[in-house]
Amino acid sequence: MSDLIRKSVQAMSGYVPGEQPKEEGLVKLNTNENPYLPSPDVQDILSMIDVAALSRYPDPVCLELRKAIAELHGCEVENVFVGNGSDEVLALCIRAFVERDGSVGYFDPSYSLYPILSDIEDVEKRPIALGAAFDWQMPEDYSASLFFLTNPNAPTSLKFSRENVEPFVQAFNGVVLIDEAYADFADENCMDLALANNNVLVARTLSKAYSLAGIRLGYCVGNAELIGAMYKIKDSYNVNYLTQEIARVAILDQDTMRANVHAIVETRKRVVDKLSELGFEVCDSQSNFLWVKPPGTTAKALFEELRKKNIIVRYFGTDERTKDYLRITIGTAPEMFKFLDVVEELMRDA
Ligand SMILES: *Cc1c(COP(=O)(O)O)cnc(C)c1O
Repeated sequence: MSDLIRKSVQAMSGYVPGEQPKEEGLVKLNTNENPYLPSPDVQDILSMIDVAALSRYPDPVCLELRKAIAELHGCEVENVFVGNGSDEVLALCIRAFVERDGSVGYFDPSYSLYPILSDIEDVEKRPIALGAAFDWQMPEDYSASLFFLTNPNAPTSLKFSRENVEPFVQAFNGVVLIDEAYADFADENCMDLALANNNVLVARTLSKAYSLAGIRLGYCVGNAELIGAMYKIKDSYNVNYLTQEIARVAILDQDTMRANVHAIVETRKRVVDKLSELGFEVCDSQSNFLWVKPPGTTAKALFEELRKKNIIVRYFGTDERTKDYLRITIGTAPEMFKFLDVVEELMRDA
């Protein structure tokens, strides 16, 4: 049987997304979703959509949506690619920019999808271990065909500073995709580097800051030639009609996104203070989640105790670099108060 399946596919393991349990009353802090409602314009556009439009194929190149994105970032439509989630954008980058004997680079730890996408395309992986404090560490003679640079990084929540990123992308001989899934929660970003350097793409998603993980829309901005290569190889209709309509109005309403981000950043501060007070090691988050090491117990034990109390966070087990930490999404203020109460209670009983 197995000889029907490509060897590289047999050898790889698939990506395991965070659980999406359907139980009532669960505090869900495990997949970095946004707990607030998206723009009210999303509800309006949904009520206005004519179902007759669904019998036609959608715009294959998403022109209206790309215009809105180009306007937002001060670039041309030719500088914008939109995909079925930024996960599709990442996969297309490997297919467009990495030869069969080429290689894909990324930091370790970072987004765990990168090695899997590389395995799917059966290309070499060149991970670089971050420093002891999950800080920037780049060997002098490093090279790869494509580098995925998550900034702010996941699951560590930390931002790499421009002093590291800018000289790196300028000296790098391949394409750098800066994955800015969390940039809206940070105090700076690298979007300008995509417009100033021919080998740099910056990817964003509507899944986190815009509260729209369910519609699957991600995009990247950069040099028109790189963007054109991605358009050549994508599926003909990679972004469906409903998603194009919803994403466009959400992008146009920056105020709602900013207000939700502000609420999350405020809550983040309070949770950081409280966890630090309880003796947790808390990384300096520039995202909508925290990366923490609990005191006096293991991350695994705390993960399990929280689960018993109907609070679900993310534990990355096994891997030596991540096994002592938990990743905690910032939910609403009431959700986080409940989380802190339970943590405090567990710490007292420990
Ligand atoms: C969530 C996330 C993505 C995925 O975004 P989608 O648009 O939902 O596919 C990409 N990169 C990183 C680092 C993420 O955390």
